[in-house]
Amino acid sequence: MFIEKFKVDSPNVRYGEEAIEAVYRYETTELVHENREGDYQWVVKPKTVRYDFKTHTRVPKLGVMLVGWGGNNGSTLTAGVIANKEGISWATKDKVQQANYFGSLTQASTIRVGSFNGEEIYAPFKSLLPMVDPDNIVFGGWDISDMNLADAMARAKVLDLDLQKQLRPYMESMVPLPGIFDPDFVAANQGARANNVIKGTKKEQVQQIIKDIREFKEKTKVDKVVVLWTANTERYSNAVAGLTDTVENLMASLEKNDAEISPSTLYGIACVLENVPYINGSPQNTFVPGLIDLAIQRNGLIGGDDFKSGQTKMKSVLVDFLVGAGIKPTSIVSYNHLGNNDGMNLSAPQTFRSKEISKSNVVDDMVSSNGILYETGEHPDHVIVIKYVPYVGDSKRAMDEYTSEIFMGGRSTIALHNTCEDSLLAAPIILDLVLLAELSTRIQLKAEGEDKFHSFHPVSAILSYLTKAPLVPPGTPVVNALSKQRAMLENILRACVGLAPENNMNLEYK
Ligand code: NAD
Repeated sequence: MFIEKFKVDSPNVRYGEEAIEAVYRYETTELVHENREGDYQWVVKPKTVRYDFKTHTRVPKLGVMLVGWGGNNGSTLTAGVIANKEGISWATKDKVQQANYFGSLTQASTIRVGSFNGEEIYAPFKSLLPMVDPDNIVFGGWDISDMNLADAMARAKVLDLDLQKQLRPYMESMVPLPGIFDPDFVAANQGARANNVIKGTKKEQVQQIIKDIREFKEKTKVDKVVVLWTANTERYSNAVAGLTDTVENLMASLEKNDAEISPSTLYGIACVLENVPYINGSPQNTFVPGLIDLAIQRNGLIGGDDFKSGQTKMKSVLVDFLVGAGIKPTSIVSYNHLGNNDGMNLSAPQTFRSKEISKSNVVDDMVSSNGILYETGEHPDHVIVIKYVPYVGDSKRAMDEYTSEIFMGGRSTIALHNTCEDSLLAAPIILDLVLLAELSTRIQLKAEGEDKFHSFHPVSAILSYLTKAPLVPPGTPVVNALSKQRAMLENILRACVGLAPENNMNLEYK
C-alpha cells in the first residue's frame, strides 16, 4: 500500500516551528586487535552512540546554476522540470505521454515505513523530510555557447518534437551567461562551440563567477543557490606539489594565473568563497587538495564526482550481487558508443582518460570485501572502451561482459546490452543532487560528547549514490555498492526523524 505522507510519533522526536529534532541511537561496532596467540585476535564490541539531529524545516526558494546549462543534460533537465511544472503532455508515436520524474530517487522512488494489517506500507522518498519542490526551482547558469535553451534543446535531439514545440516559449528567453573556457582542458573539437566566454585572468574569471552568482540571487530573489558542473569532461589537471596541493598554494597559483588551474576548479573556488554548494558531475579532478581544504576551512559543501547514470550504476549492483553471492568476477569489459557532444569530447585521449579513471575504481570496495575470493591486492581485469559514433546521438549503447569463476572451476559469463538516451538518465540525477545537497545544508547533528551541533562534513559523502567516483572526506572509506549507498542516504534521513534504519528483518512475522 502507498501513502503520501506520515509523521513520527515518538518521545525521541519533536516537530517544532523551525526544526525537527530527533534523538537517535546509532548501533555500531568497535574492533579491537589483541596482540596474542590463539584463535581470537580480533574482538568486536557492539557500541551504541547517541546522536542528536536537527533539521531546519523552512524550505528555501532554490536557484540552481548549471555550468554547461546549454548542454544535453542542462537543457534536458530544464525542459523536464518545466514540463512537469506546467503539466505538459505530448503525442508520441505510441501514446500521449505525461511529464514525469522517472529515474529520480527523490521524486519517483519510495521508502518502506512499516506494515499495517499484514501489508507493507510505502511512502515517497521525498516525504521523509521537507525538501524543495522542483516546481519552485529557478534555473540559470553558464555556457561557453550562447545558444538559448530552446535552441539548445533542439540541438540536443533528446526530447520528442511535439514536447519541444510546447516548451519552446518557456525556454527561448533563457540564455546562459558567458563561461570560463580553456581549450587546453577539453578536446580540440569543442573550440567551435565557444562563442560566449569570460575574458581576463583566472582571478578575474573567479571574480566574475562570484558576481554572476550574486546577481542571479538578486534578480531571481532566491534564498539559496546550488551550482553544479554538467559541462564538458576536462582532462586531469596536473596536481604537482606546490601548485594546488594546499589552500595557500592554490590561491598563490590563482594570483600567478597558473595554467594548470582548470575551469572546473575555478568555478569551485568561486562557489566555496561565496559559500554556495558546488557539485561536480564530470570525472575530472576538479577537487584538487587545495580546493577540498578551502571547502573544509569555509564549511562550504562540495560533492562529486561524475554522475552515476547507466553502465556504472549497473556495475555497482551486479558486482555487489556476484561478490555477495560468493561468486568471483575475474574479467569485466565495458564498451560504450555514443554520438552526442559528450561523446565527441571524450574522443580525445586526455578527456577519455578522466572517464576511464572514474569508471575503473567502482568495484574496488566490493572486491576488497571478500578475502575468500580474492587474495590481497588481487583484482579482476577491468577494461573500459568508449567510442564516438555520431549517428546514435544521445542514445548511448553500453555493452558489458562479466566473466566470473563459479563452483568447482566453472565459468559464468553475463553479457548486457543497454540502449538509452544518456541525458534522460542524467537529468533526474542532477535534480536529486541539487535537492539533496540543499537538504543536507539544513541538517545539523551532534554526537554524544560533542557540545555543539554542526553540519555534515563539507565533503558530502551522502551524495555517493548519485556519483560514479564518490568524493569523500579525507580518511573515509569509499563505498560504491549501490544498495549500500542508498541505505546510507535513506537511513540518515530516517535518523533525522528518529526512525530506525531499515533492517529487513521482519521479525514480527517470524
Ligand atoms: P554536452 O557536451 O551536451 O554539454 C556540456 C555543455 O557544457 C556544452 O553546452 C558546452 O558548451 C558547455 N561547456 C563546456 N565547457 C564549459 C565551461 N568551461 N563553462 C561553461 N560551459 C561549458 O554534454 P552532456 O551530455 O550534457 O554531459 C555533460 C557532462 O556530464 C559531461 O562531462 C559528461 O561526461 C557528464 N556525464 C554525463 C552522464 C550522462 O549520462 N549523460 C553521465 C555521467 C557524466
